[in-house]
Amino acid sequence: MKCPKAECVKNHCRVIKHILIIEDSTNLTTHLKEKIDEHFSFRCDVAATESVARDMLRRKRYDLILTDIYLPDSTPYFIQELTKENHRVIVMTGSDNDSVRTTLLALPIVDYVVKSDAKTLVNYLIKTIERLNTNRNMVIGICDDSKLARSIMVRLVIIQNLGYVEFEDGQQVLSCIMEDTLGVDVLLSDYEMPNMNGLELLRQLRHTFLDSELPFISLSASDKPHLLGQFLKSGANDYLKKPFTNEEFLTRLNLTLDHLYSTRKTASLMKELEQVATHDFLTQLYNRNYFYSQVSHVVSNAFREKVEYGILMIDIDFFKKVNDTHGHYAGDVAIKHVASTLKSLARASDYCCRWGGEEFLILVPKTTPLELEYFGQRLRYTLEESTIVVNNELSFQITISVGGATQFNTDFNILISRADEMLYEAKKSGRNCVKISTDDDKPLL
Ligand code: GH3
Ligand code: MG
Ligand code: MG
Ligand code: MG
Repeated sequence: MKCPKAECVKNHCRVIKHILIIEDSTNLTTHLKEKIDEHFSFRCDVAATESVARDMLRRKRYDLILTDIYLPDSTPYFIQELTKENHRVIVMTGSDNDSVRTTLLALPIVDYVVKSDAKTLVNYLIKTIERLNTNRNMVIGICDDSKLARSIMVRLVIIQNLGYVEFEDGQQVLSCIMEDTLGVDVLLSDYEMPNMNGLELLRQLRHTFLDSELPFISLSASDKPHLLGQFLKSGANDYLKKPFTNEEFLTRLNLTLDHLYSTRKTASLMKELEQVATHDFLTQLYNRNYFYSQVSHVVSNAFREKVEYGILMIDIDFFKKVNDTHGHYAGDVAIKHVASTLKSLARASDYCCRWGGEEFLILVPKTTPLELEYFGQRLRYTLEESTIVVNNELSFQITISVGGATQFNTDFNILISRADEMLYEAKKSGRNCVKISTDDDKPLL
């Protein structure tokens, strides 16, 4: 079956930065413009009358228009004209009149906002502009067997600056998942469809994706009384009864998107926090704390598999002189250079840690004294042969001394002190060398 990934449509998505406010209340425009200027890196233009706005629109294309309904020189079909010309429009009005609301919300507008109080209005508008900008990187999957239903949803999704992919049935969605080409952030799906209904599709999807990973909004014209419960209990994030109004559709979709954005933001903050807590800031190697938290795991694996594990302790030679001669910044570059060399020569299973200032430690879960010696020599030799370049203007070389030890013992502190002694030996023997302990150690019981 043809996978519709190639038909992902995004060419209408753009960064929202040119904004026009059409509003005759100076109080409101001053406040709104001030807040938008303060919040975003762009500035917006203001028109107090329709004729000025028309003039400005002739000269420049705006990404978003915020407009009042009633202006001193309003003509009846101004907003209709704007939407016909494919402008993104948010309508602001002072009176929440039902018939005006119905007429305007039937148009392809981004939103219809009542000017209750300035603070609420401004907060709502700023959140909407932020969402429009985040939306441009999102793709909505629209799964419905009815071409007309799909085209209605596509039109609404385009206005919200969202990309989209159309699917004719659930099988198409599943085949994309099998090929790992779904590329959809939120899925909207009809219930009654040939081949596979929306509920079955949802149940299949939830085997692979959690509701926080792929939000699912179900849509149905069916009057079955239990459908809402069935959908929500099977992991749908929302349920919309057809026919829906534009406002209902967009409000529900926006709620799901806001929730998705905040979940993703929290996840990325957690990842950042974890990185800061477990890694050294300068080198991005593991810090001492994280290193120690991993030791017991390595030691118990070694105990279970009855293998030797080892460490290399690495110290840059005469590093104080590097700082004194080339400056502290060049010293930092040298530390980063050593760190990236260690990382590039270590295996994925090794733990590279910045132990302190210009000292590093590598924990090798499975090794022998001979292998450890070979590894230490490679590090030493690679660093001796390489040149450190600072800002393309200064270059110098450094060497390292390495002490190492392996053991079967479960007392990690013994290993550390033996490697430390060997590092001291290496320094005493003239530096730029590797010393590995040959002390015999009893195998783990
Ligand atoms: P040795 O060969 O005996 O190891 O001599 P050394 O000069 O390398 O050793 P010493 O311990 O006397 O000096 C280490 C220096 O490393 C002193 C300290 O200022 C510097 N240092 C520690 N941390 C950093 C850092 O993050 N950046 C820079 N640039 N220097 C650091
Ligand atoms: Mg259907
Ligand atoms: Mg030192
Ligand atoms: Mg040193």
